[in-house]
Amino acid sequence: MATIAFIGLGNMGGPMARNLLKAGHAVQAFDLSEAACAAARDAGATIAAGPGAAAAGAEVVITMLPAGKHVREVYTGEGGVIASAKPGSLFIDSSTVDVDSARAVAAAAEAAGFAMVDAPVSGGVGGAEAGTLTFMVGGTEDAFKRAEPILAAMGKAIVHTGGPGNGQAAKICNNMILGISMIGVSEAFALAEKLGLESQKLFDVASKSSGQCWSLTSYCPVPGPVPTSPANRDYQPGFAAALMLKDLKLAVEAGQSTGSPLPLGGEAAQLYTLFCNAGFGGKDFSGIVNMLRGQK
Ligand code: NAD
Repeated sequence: MATIAFIGLGNMGGPMARNLLKAGHAVQAFDLSEAACAAARDAGATIAAGPGAAAAGAEVVITMLPAGKHVREVYTGEGGVIASAKPGSLFIDSSTVDVDSARAVAAAAEAAGFAMVDAPVSGGVGGAEAGTLTFMVGGTEDAFKRAEPILAAMGKAIVHTGGPGNGQAAKICNNMILGISMIGVSEAFALAEKLGLESQKLFDVASKSSGQCWSLTSYCPVPGPVPTSPANRDYQPGFAAALMLKDLKLAVEAGQSTGSPLPLGGEAAQLYTLFCNAGFGGKDFSGIVNMLRGQK
């Protein structure tokens, strides 16, 4: 069992840190929020005074922070992780951030003699609580092998996707497919309604035809055909539209920095911007069907 620094104890990081404690690891935790620290203390973590203090003495440092700027600050800032960690420790960033930040921080860690992986997740808060997250891991083979048993306490699928930054690359490419496919499925249901075709009938055909996809058969955006989908509970997330928009913006940014045209990814980002600006950022992302039906 290891001593693990855990920095960022929000909706995802809080339950992830609890699963590490349950697995028998010692956790030295830090978050800017006192309430988040208190919850981690109640679960058995010791609370450190800052990111550097959390990292000092730990064999592994895990971060679960909002965005690239927070990750850069926590690792490379004054009194940050790189300045304070013990030689030989392993860094794991599970936040969803831009690929450029992931690669820059991994390079700074490597230059200081530390191994680092980016290991963003899918599975949401439910997956974080149940310990069933999927991790997409970018880093060297050696760093991946060291990270794998630690990540296993928090997830069920751990996939090595290549070198530094490739965990983030896999995450934004996957979520861009998801955002685009959800809009495609939603448009089809909106059109079917205007054509007098019942939702269930469209589902019965498309789920067995070439229109079949996860957004249709596992997460159908209209109530009825898939009883477990958020459409049946007033679009309570699930996966909030604001998080989908964040990931689509990261994809658009990566498209710009690599010169990759993303006509549909860009359009999906614009539609989710409209949906979020209309006040629906906290609703499940499949709720965009109502905007496309003209009934926010
Ligand atoms: P959150 O806002 O609930 O938690 C982030 C935490 O980081 C907060 O508690 C905040 O106080 C803390 N924090 C910010 N700056 C800090 C700093 N400098 N030092 C220490 N703590 C700091 O967010 P979340 O929902 O837990 O998401 C975390 C990451 O996981 C994000 O990158 C998000 O995109 C990603 N993610 C979230 C979900 C989800 O369903 N919530 C799913 C997949 C991935």
